Amino acid sequence: MKHMSLAEIATACGGTYVGDDSLKTVEVNGVVIDSRKVEPGYLFVAVKGERVDGHTFIPSVFAKGAACVLCEDAPEQPAGPYIQVSSTLEAIKAIAACYRSTLTIPVVGISGSVGKTSTKEMIASILGQHFYVLKTEGNFNNEIGLPLTIFRIREEHEAAVLEMGISDFGEMTTLASMAKPTVCVLTNIGLCHLENLKTRDGILKAKTEMFDQAMPGAQIIVNGDDDKLITLKSRTPQPTFFGLDPSLDLYAENVENLGLAGSRCDFVTKAGRFTATIPIPGHHMVYNALAGTAVGLALGLTLDEIRAGIETLKPVSGRNHLIHTDKWDILDDCYNANPVSMAASLDVLTNALGRKVAILGDMGELGENEKLLHYNVGCHAADNQIDAIFAVGELSKELVKGVHAKDPDGKLICKHFDTKEALFEALPLLLMQGDSILVKASHFMEFPEIVKWLEDHG
Ligand code: ATP
Ligand code: MG
Repeated sequence: MKHMSLAEIATACGGTYVGDDSLKTVEVNGVVIDSRKVEPGYLFVAVKGERVDGHTFIPSVFAKGAACVLCEDAPEQPAGPYIQVSSTLEAIKAIAACYRSTLTIPVVGISGSVGKTSTKEMIASILGQHFYVLKTEGNFNNEIGLPLTIFRIREEHEAAVLEMGISDFGEMTTLASMAKPTVCVLTNIGLCHLENLKTRDGILKAKTEMFDQAMPGAQIIVNGDDDKLITLKSRTPQPTFFGLDPSLDLYAENVENLGLAGSRCDFVTKAGRFTATIPIPGHHMVYNALAGTAVGLALGLTLDEIRAGIETLKPVSGRNHLIHTDKWDILDDCYNANPVSMAASLDVLTNALGRKVAILGDMGELGENEKLLHYNVGCHAADNQIDAIFAVGELSKELVKGVHAKDPDGKLICKHFDTKEALFEALPLLLMQGDSILVKASHFMEFPEIVKWLEDHG
């Protein structure tokens, strides 16, 4: 981070500074909640978690050279200064907001139901052609991850790309009031977090809270092919819309599917057109590249820089990451899943050479329609001529029913397993040399274990 003194930090969060007065001007150079990440000069934030209480690490972080500790309970005989607050989680949000207000760089805020991380990576890859970029690490997109990411912005960064994930009303207001984006991006309005947000209109309302908190004059960039987002057309000033519809501000045409190698298309913008190869498979990646192009143009990049950023995009583990082994191709998409991304990944698998195998698991947080939404995934898989479907988990029994409904004669191979262990026992007899295997489920299903099994046995 840039510099923030202990006195400024205490003021920002309304905390009580306890320690040597002469140290109040000490400036911290990092903020972390994980004691293992503490380095000399850092502020350590003690958070009471479900299993571990960060307060127990206070002696060890001082031993590592922490400049100060932010805590709820006063430490016994602390070896350095501390700032006491009633809630450390609330305090880091206030400190992050204050820190952000000292930065003058462009900040891109990304939300949407699906594709936030993938779009963040694409935008960062494009902006990286022109700026020194700080991006959200992994999925640090919530009320804890976002402030920690904001603290990682240092003096030398020229742009920040921040992912924002929410599951309820009001959360976006909190996140965006911290991040204060100068460019807002919404990928789509799908069917995630229905438990709180109920309907797609609810999701739209919750996500667009971002615009009200953005920097004055912030640019808004949204997917114009999304039937909910296009309703933002009546807003003033109008957002920039991207998609495949040629009436939009920015669109892609002549999309050529290169199978698991990605896709190639022409990007048509008000600044001119260019052709680029997107090196990661999936039709949805065209949308992510369009979002990145729009952000690149908004921040003054040339079309050549934008094309270079698209073409050098690196895959992220767990998200459409193609792994070749001697025996098969694994499409590791197991980071997370919901109905929209399940359908997108099955569409990617459709383009594979060889036998198309999908190992699918339960999707979480889908609310009362969860069974139907699993059933529909099964229908989609059968409609897309996936050769073999292996489903794991309780809700995935519905997925199997969907496959059977579309494939009454049993032409496709479709099996259900209660556990991953049962799947592992059966897989040696079910898989064949040359298979292309998609692995996908919600995070809690812990499907990376399946990817590992496939790598170890491939
Ligand atoms: P989370 O809510 O877990 O943070 P996310 O919104 O960050 O999810 P990603 O992790 O980028 O989403 O993508 C999840 C999956 O959705 C990808 O693996 C891919 O299959 C698919 N996907 C990526 N981009 C899009 C998109 N624009 N539209 C639809 N599906 C997408
Ligand atoms: Mg994400």
